[in-house]
Amino acid sequence: MIPALITLLIVGSLFGTFFVVERFVPLRAHKAALIARLFVNLCFSALAFVVAGLLVRPAAQSALHWAGAQPFGLIHLIPLPGWVQFVIAFLLMDLSFYWWHWLNHRSGFLWRFHNVHHIDADLDVSTGFRFHFGEVAMSAVFRVVQVALIGISAPAFATYELVFQINTLFQHSNVRLPIRLERLLSMVFVTPRMHGIHHSQVQGETNSNYSVVFSWWDRIHRTLGLNIPQSEIVIGVPGYSTPGDRRLLNSILLPFKKQRDYWRMPDGTSALRINRAESTSHPTRLAE
Ligand SMILES: [Zn+2]
Repeated sequence: MIPALITLLIVGSLFGTFFVVERFVPLRAHKAALIARLFVNLCFSALAFVVAGLLVRPAAQSALHWAGAQPFGLIHLIPLPGWVQFVIAFLLMDLSFYWWHWLNHRSGFLWRFHNVHHIDADLDVSTGFRFHFGEVAMSAVFRVVQVALIGISAPAFATYELVFQINTLFQHSNVRLPIRLERLLSMVFVTPRMHGIHHSQVQGETNSNYSVVFSWWDRIHRTLGLNIPQSEIVIGVPGYSTPGDRRLLNSILLPFKKQRDYWRMPDGTSALRINRAESTSHPTRLAE
């Protein structure tokens, strides 16, 4: 089992590293003031950590113990060597996270909360933990079902949690990697350019690239969209794109208020992709 303190140290130092590197080699130009964004994102992160610690972690641990004691779960249906169970459980965790993320976009109720993550005006490592506490709380229910149905062991769960956190920071970071390297990486993992497209103001682009660790779930489900150059991407959600929408209190209250048309700008226009020349010619090739 990976102790929580070691996970915290690894995640903390990676956060710091990405934060520094993305200042020197940025992938996309920032459009909002950094300090104000950081303040809001850190407040959301702190609330998310509290809810995760009070709800999600205890719920996951109870499900782990219960499923382990029966034993219960998909991976116990056929007798398999321990390492095969480990790999299958790890993959099933990531596949089911793909489905959970997809559902967060497709369910109107869940999207009210997940939208708060998407309205950040820029995308960098600080967006990685910017989740509404309501979304974090609801994920506790999903986590119990996920862990119990899969029947994952405690070591496999701790390993997946660590890889999940590391890749969450990586994919949200604004670090410009050499395109050849990122094209190679994106064949296996979700990378910053790939996830940047998921945070685009264009509805069809936001509704693509739902994978969390392994990028191949989007290939399998035909939701992959890699061919949008980062220089053409405007980060955010059009209906909530004014500085006022992104203030802390407004963002916290957003899910509980009457919802606007998410995909129309305040002036009534839609965010559309004008230049789709590259996007239609190579739909699964990561654009620069
Ligand atoms: Zn999303």
